[in-house]
Amino acid sequence: MKKQLKNILLFFFILFSIAHPQKKETNVLYQYSVINALSAGVYEGDLNVNELKKFGNFGLGTFNNIDGEMIVLDGIIYQVKTDGVPIETAKNLLSPFAAVTFFKSDTTIELKTPQTLQKIKELLDAALPSENYLYAIKISGKFQKVKTRSVPKQQQPFPDLASVIKKQVTFEKDNVNGTVIGFKMPEFIDGVNVKSYHFHFLSSDKHFGGHLLDLVLDKGKIEIGVIKEFRCQLPSTKNYTETKFVKEECYLPNK
Ligand SMILES: [Zn+2]
Repeated sequence: MKKQLKNILLFFFILFSIAHPQKKETNVLYQYSVINALSAGVYEGDLNVNELKKFGNFGLGTFNNIDGEMIVLDGIIYQVKTDGVPIETAKNLLSPFAAVTFFKSDTTIELKTPQTLQKIKELLDAALPSENYLYAIKISGKFQKVKTRSVPKQQQPFPDLASVIKKQVTFEKDNVNGTVIGFKMPEFIDGVNVKSYHFHFLSSDKHFGGHLLDLVLDKGKIEIGVIKEFRCQLPSTKNYTETKFVKEECYLPNK
């Protein structure tokens, strides 16, 4: 009898679990690898992009062999190679560096007049509640001008990231609707992630995107998610374990 009751309870528990899957935690950062590794030329990771989706629906990164820029928006992962055209990623692609979260806006700033990227950063600096948290930042709207870049795919032996960025390909688009996806990280994160601002861009029609270099926003809104929890997973690849990270040149994403 007792066993029967146990089985009945177990049955209802399973039923409940199926009907109410665990709620995704919002604004928790999941990061794979560290920026110092990427800067030093660790371009081979063992994180499948499909796995990455479990940890967030919003974020950025790159792909193995540094084959283009990664944009994660609304749960879809896009790859922008050096032709500048976003494509939905193949399921079996691997990443050597990515940062994602389940985005939830805590604060919204409406922008009704044109703003440069510099002005937007100043507005954000004034609006963010503390320099000591991480922030997920989403800027959506109509843009007068957007400049992005991507980087060419690399083969072993890998050069460092600064050398790869010297070979970046840039793209420009006027009058485009789209979304800026990115983060602001505190000073103390230096080496682990990119300190300060790091943005990628994806147009609404999904035909244009990349790592953001510059923009002029016509009108739109900024949404900010405050991140107070941070999880970092390190790669198990030979490329990661055997590379010596040399802290010389700082990785400046907007240069
Ligand atoms: Zn980037």
